[in-house]
Amino acid sequence: MLRIKDRESKLINKIKDAIERIDNGTFGICEVCGEEISEKRLMARPMTTLCIKCKIKQEEEEKKRGL
Ligand SMILES: [Zn+2]
Repeated sequence: MLRIKDRESKLINKIKDAIERIDNGTFGICEVCGEEISEKRLMARPMTTLCIKCKIKQEEEEKKRGL
């Protein structure tokens, strides 16, 4: 029971975070460069916190590390 409650509260915290971001106007703003994330991208991935440029950069760096 305790474990289930813990998982539930983590999910609730995630939702609260998203609502807070909407409330303070940082929802849809890239965490790295502060630029607006395109609407198209937000529609595909509503919980994303990176713009496409930063996401590509991050993926390239991950690839480099993987090779
Ligand atoms: Zn960015």
